[in-house]
Amino acid sequence: MTALDDALAAADAARAAARTELEELVRIPSISADPDRRDDVRASADATADLLRAHGLESVRLAGVDDSHPYVIGEWMHASAGAPTVLLYAHHDVQPPGIVDNWESDPFEPTERGGRLYGRGSADDKAGGVAHAHAVSAWLNTSGELPCNVRVLIEGEEEIGSPTLSSFLDAHVEELRSDVLVLADAGNWKVGVPGLTYSLRGLAAADIELRALDGPVHSGMAGGAIPDPVAGLARVLASLVDDRGDVAIDGLWEEVRPLTEHERAAIPGLDDDPDGFGRAMGIRPGAHMVGDPATTLHERLWFRPSLTVIGIDAHPIKGSSNQIIARATARLSLRLAPGQEPDRVIEQLRAHVERHVPWGLELRFTALEGAPAWQTDPSGPAFDAARRALRAGFGTDPVLMGVGGSIPFVGPFADAFGGIPALLLGPADPHSRIHGENESLHLGDWHKLIASEVHLLQELRNF
Ligand SMILES: [Zn+2]
Repeated sequence: MTALDDALAAADAARAAARTELEELVRIPSISADPDRRDDVRASADATADLLRAHGLESVRLAGVDDSHPYVIGEWMHASAGAPTVLLYAHHDVQPPGIVDNWESDPFEPTERGGRLYGRGSADDKAGGVAHAHAVSAWLNTSGELPCNVRVLIEGEEEIGSPTLSSFLDAHVEELRSDVLVLADAGNWKVGVPGLTYSLRGLAAADIELRALDGPVHSGMAGGAIPDPVAGLARVLASLVDDRGDVAIDGLWEEVRPLTEHERAAIPGLDDDPDGFGRAMGIRPGAHMVGDPATTLHERLWFRPSLTVIGIDAHPIKGSSNQIIARATARLSLRLAPGQEPDRVIEQLRAHVERHVPWGLELRFTALEGAPAWQTDPSGPAFDAARRALRAGFGTDPVLMGVGGSIPFVGPFADAFGGIPALLLGPADPHSRIHGENESLHLGDWHKLIASEVHLLQELRNF
């Protein structure tokens, strides 16, 4: 048996323990977007720190700047001379559960059905942190050492767009200095087939509030003469998408570069089954897919901007009465194509909204956190190491893929250390419904991911 075989066997023997540890983390509702859950995010950080310590990481501590949700840091820096330092990233905060009644089981009580573990944060991204811990301890518990130096960073505010990331990096640059970044916050191409992600969309967001009145008035006494801010808001929102469902913000497409033939050809050949994708997402039978039909599905998902109205505040239906209410607000979230700058998109959105506000309603426009897209060239020794490791762990080659989501951490972090390679893998798959209701993790693939990380630490040894 080689040291690698021993480490793989140890990871395999720890399957049940890994699952128990993951379940304990999923039970903590560490919702970074919810101010009432601050203590839970803190409890999640404490539990994550305990996990890292139990798996042999050293100098484990909580860190943060200003009033950020806690990051968890740890390291093991005793590899033989010349070995590189690998930074293992995941995040311990989660999205809100959405509509709890739509969950088939309690979002914060992990439940297995059909080989998948259901629960908020099961796939995004508590499984990522537990995978890192197990890859480390598989080596430490057998060889007593790791093939490379390792630093671990488990973030606590990824799901709110990493608002303190740049100041955190400035404050902790020496403790985080590394040669290659491994992020377990992406996912597999499909069940059984690993993915290696080289492209992420960016993010921009804003609240638009339209106000018509000092306070609510009787709709019978005033309707027909006094403007309804909810209808006004609906008109503005409708102006933001065209008939195909594409973003229609004035000027927005100027920075969106069409794909070259070479780039289009590099999109996985498993394209193009939009209907199958729609079914996997749970689209209703009469609803059809949106976006320019001249583009492929993955081009739309990875390389073109999109707009989502993620929240509306008006009067709830329950308790509503015949009134024109004073104001209505929508929160808009945009995914950005590579090359689009969040600040510029926000200014385009602001100008568009100002032009489309009807009836002279008062507009209050509030820009929220943004992040540019990220793309890398998936070649070179680090990517070769990751491909070999994923092939060894899953028994099949990884698909080089883009992701329509955003991980604001990747670009600034890689840049802070001179453009180090960033390897994005992760525990999710197209059925994981991350951010949605009934989020789940494929347990079999998760163990293959852990095995891949065990391989990866060895593969990066000479990188
Ligand atoms: Zn995530």
